[in-house]
Amino acid sequence: MAKFPFEPNLEAAMLRTMRVPLLDLSNEYQVLAQPIREQLDEVFASQRFILGPKVKEFEQAIAEFCQAPFAIGVSSGTDALLAVLMAYEIGSGDAVVTSPYTFFATAGCVVRLGARPVFVDVDPATCNISVPALERFLREQCKQTSSGLVLSDTGEKVRAIIPVHLFGQCCEMNKVYELAQEFRLRTIEDAAQAIGAEYPFLDGTRKAGTMGEAGVFSFYPSKNLGAAGDAGLIICRDSYVADKLFAIREHGMRPRYYHGLLGGNFRLDAIQAAILNVKLPYLNRWSAARREAADFYRAQFKTAGLTDTVCLPSEPYRDLVKEYHIYHQFVIRTPERDALRAHLTKAEIGTEIYYPLALHQQKCFQNLGYREGHFPATERATHESLALPIYPTISRDSQQYVVSAIADFFSKRKRSAA
Ligand SMILES: *Cc1c(COP(=O)(O)O)cnc(C)c1O
Repeated sequence: MAKFPFEPNLEAAMLRTMRVPLLDLSNEYQVLAQPIREQLDEVFASQRFILGPKVKEFEQAIAEFCQAPFAIGVSSGTDALLAVLMAYEIGSGDAVVTSPYTFFATAGCVVRLGARPVFVDVDPATCNISVPALERFLREQCKQTSSGLVLSDTGEKVRAIIPVHLFGQCCEMNKVYELAQEFRLRTIEDAAQAIGAEYPFLDGTRKAGTMGEAGVFSFYPSKNLGAAGDAGLIICRDSYVADKLFAIREHGMRPRYYHGLLGGNFRLDAIQAAILNVKLPYLNRWSAARREAADFYRAQFKTAGLTDTVCLPSEPYRDLVKEYHIYHQFVIRTPERDALRAHLTKAEIGTEIYYPLALHQQKCFQNLGYREGHFPATERATHESLALPIYPTISRDSQQYVVSAIADFFSKRKRSAA
């Protein structure tokens, strides 16, 4: 049988020719191949390819997994963000606060709706939104008016905040929540990289996506729960918003061919839902395996005497919740990132830079008026971050090889400096 439709994605497929690829889900797929094929046969036999029972089943399973009241399957993580912003009627004259150190979609969706993304710098340790910077922004660069919080400079209304749980670890949601309450802002969690991650919330342990009014997930093939193409999902707490989202994902249509509100084609394919239904029961096991791999990296870096040379990911919730990190990425930091990356590529080790250019520095956002130097912690992270190979089935040999290649790089540096 042809392997192509089940490849996680093209980049991952190409990286597999490396000695240690950045991501390799082929072992994972082998275990699931049979049940996935059975599911695909069922979908083809039914000839129901869009929404339908497979999607409903998946929505229920995710709602239960996250302990969220409502789940709405959509066509991608990007469309999930877009649909939620549409549901809250965010548009021209509005502003949305988020991090400049994230995937483009987080802010791209805000701009597509005519609203302004406002960036706040990240915490240098976690690379998630900095709570002190957020608080300073809300208190010093905004003012309370009769119509709510507005930007002092432009008068645009600040409507929402999008905390991004970057690399698989939650933002400091207790403080984000308190600020959102105080300033009456909606909280939309971008949990695209953090499905299943937990956080010690005010009232107990909560899963990523359940602490704000809404949370969005992406099932892009290289995400921790990956489809065989594009797919996404929204979870939310309010039945009115959920109803609205079910309509918005079908052009706001209700009943058929009557459009009470504007939506889009944000429908989830039955094939994707069927595959995700097979994979979801494995997610906790996979996250645990990623955490074990992260611990092994940590031990290897320590043994190699590299812990003062490279900065390893911080884990602030490690002793507080079980799923303190789901290690979507294992990102180390060093000022010598580019030379190290070149060295690792030569050693046939796959690495990636998330992200080489911050959002406030993107060409298409130049009209927002930000300059280089605006967000020092973010900009430094774009120069220093390097994602190492991590996936549930990565072998300890491969990890040892990665760390020894890094040790080799730094010992050569030291010798040439001496
Ligand atoms: C992947 C990702 C998205 C977008 O998801 P797609 O399914 O690719 O549209 C949004 N935000 C973050 C942080 C992501 O990592």
